[in-house]
Amino acid sequence: MGRIAYINGRYLPQNQATVHIEDRGYNFADGVYEVIAVHNGALVDEEPHIVRLRRSLNELKIDWPVTENAFRFLMREIIRRNGLREGMIYLQITRGVAPRDHAFPKDSQSSLMMTTRRSKPFNADEIAKGVRVITIPDIRWKRNDIKSISLLGNVLGKQQAREAGAYEAWMFDENGDVTEGTSSNAWIVSKEGELVTRQLSNAILSGITRLTVLKLAEEKGIKFVERAFSIEETQSAKEAFLTSTTSFVKPIVQIDDKQVADGKAGPLCRALLDRYGSYMDEDISSP
Ligand code: PMP
Repeated sequence: MGRIAYINGRYLPQNQATVHIEDRGYNFADGVYEVIAVHNGALVDEEPHIVRLRRSLNELKIDWPVTENAFRFLMREIIRRNGLREGMIYLQITRGVAPRDHAFPKDSQSSLMMTTRRSKPFNADEIAKGVRVITIPDIRWKRNDIKSISLLGNVLGKQQAREAGAYEAWMFDENGDVTEGTSSNAWIVSKEGELVTRQLSNAILSGITRLTVLKLAEEKGIKFVERAFSIEETQSAKEAFLTSTTSFVKPIVQIDDKQVADGKAGPLCRALLDRYGSYMDEDISSP
């Protein structure tokens, strides 16, 4: 079965789903997006994703293209029409179609599209093999808290990682502190043994997986601190890992040329990875 996409009120075979050439998403990257995991045919962490989407739209003064209730229905419908069990929904809302002019159009209707993608089911042992990251300067704009489709800094960074044979690039700010990965949040276990991830600000995206992992750590009685950490500090870290909707909780075994600890997934990361797997089994929104 071919994939079905949703675009502005219609369900179409994905290769026939198109947008207008004057859509402001196309001309200006004037839009926002979300990626939501689907597990056992249901959405993972639906509520916090909707909260973040609402915030991104508010920050950019883009109207909801449909009511929030209709939106929740459409997400279920795209899952159903694609027979999706394991994978993700990608959805994008732009300011809509208008003659090209930087300022907001007076009366455009925002555009909504949704697609799905299948993936292999969550496999903790596979994920636990770990990945390598490189470090690069963060060249992005100053509102990385908005989940904007304007992702050139992230695109260039990820490409640099790929060319270096790495999975991800950790970006650092003018102080040499890690902001986040190009499509994930960054974590370490410091040499003192504390779980660390950067505090929320305009410098990073508030990852939903990050929020969930903080909640799960708290439930497990694992102490954590939200603060900046430097590239230098990562060199002496006991563990390092990244989190995202599609990568879950993924150990990092090498940062640039330096192996992290013994080069294997650390115990805290492994515990959080396993717990995240069981959390996805529990937290499935109503079909
Ligand atoms: N930071 C950036 C820059 C991202 O693109 C993503 C993934 N969209 C994340 C962090 C992780 O966010 P989430 O856990 O919501 O997928």
